[in-house]
Amino acid sequence: MDHFGDGLAFGVAITYVRQTEPRGTAGAILDELDAVNGTMVVMYGDTMLDVDLNRFVNAHRHAGAEATLFLHPNDHPHDSDLVAITDDGQVTGVFPYPHPEGFIAANLVNAALYVIERSALLPFQALPGLLDFGKHLFPRMLEAGARLKGYNSPEYIKDAGTPERVDKVVGDLRSGLINARSLRSPAPAVFLDRDGVLNQEVNRISHPYQLVLIDGVAAALKKLNRSFYRTVVITNQPVVACGDCDEAGLRRIHDKLETLLGREGAYYDALYYCPHHPECGFAGERVDLKIECTCRKPATGLIDRACAELNIDRSRSWFIGDTTVDILAAQRAGIGSVCVETGHAGKDGRHPVAADLICADLGAAVTFILKEERVTPLVKKTD
Ligand SMILES: [Zn+2]
Repeated sequence: MDHFGDGLAFGVAITYVRQTEPRGTAGAILDELDAVNGTMVVMYGDTMLDVDLNRFVNAHRHAGAEATLFLHPNDHPHDSDLVAITDDGQVTGVFPYPHPEGFIAANLVNAALYVIERSALLPFQALPGLLDFGKHLFPRMLEAGARLKGYNSPEYIKDAGTPERVDKVVGDLRSGLINARSLRSPAPAVFLDRDGVLNQEVNRISHPYQLVLIDGVAAALKKLNRSFYRTVVITNQPVVACGDCDEAGLRRIHDKLETLLGREGAYYDALYYCPHHPECGFAGERVDLKIECTCRKPATGLIDRACAELNIDRSRSWFIGDTTVDILAAQRAGIGSVCVETGHAGKDGRHPVAADLICADLGAAVTFILKEERVTPLVKKTD
């Protein structure tokens, strides 16, 4: 209060409300509902963040949501409050920590930053007692049929509520990591194929039990997570078009992938998949998805979408894959390519292309990329 005063020096008007008894994060807002109009942004005082708030509020308005929760993957999802969303962002479940043993879920952590319509809170205004948004109010709103939307973003947001966490956040601020994570700043990305790069190649995974991580993958991702690169998985999943599993089934496979990585403190920022397949004749196939699309690698549709949505500077980006399909997609997208010797090891013979770099596995590829200052000139390994 000493620093900000009435806010005029900062171009805003600030009002302070002092609580006499703790009411929890949601209770505090419910008590002051009469003082606000329309749409509000709720953020906590001990959170360090650099988030494009205009983009966040616009997404909320565009979706016509009553409340939008800022979600992100973190390096300890097993002891965080998790949220489940559909492919189009509708919140279907809120799972406060602690989780039951063996809990499998997407690494989508409630980061405690919300856009909320005042009208959506009015029915709950009279609720007594200690009320937390994640633990109490959002589950009740979901039960009551409220339209809650999840907003998944890789931007920096961290709880700085203990002296140790403050030290960590200050370190991230000084290194430039907080600014680099903002979607307002263009950043390079490491694009990753899924099968044969992250998890062991099995012909068409259609059930979570078939998904097994390749050794060393989590450790490699952890290094990327601490770097200035965004980490984006781009994967062809014709299992959906071929009727081996539906979108919800594919979501469960990715929940398993994110849970296994999360247990080892690793994550990716985003995953884009192509559900299509161009050839007909499979038992149980989905006719609507049997099309020539623009997103199935080696087409660049998913890479282009990720570059636009995540403000990616492709001139400094890399694609790590295990097939010539990945390498061709990278070349068409104007991105440096790395072929790993796991999975198909580039021996699929489908396209006459060679990668810019060959590495034993993801760990070796990440070590190389993080040492490189620039993409060009590309260093090629000949064997
Ligand atoms: Zn497609």
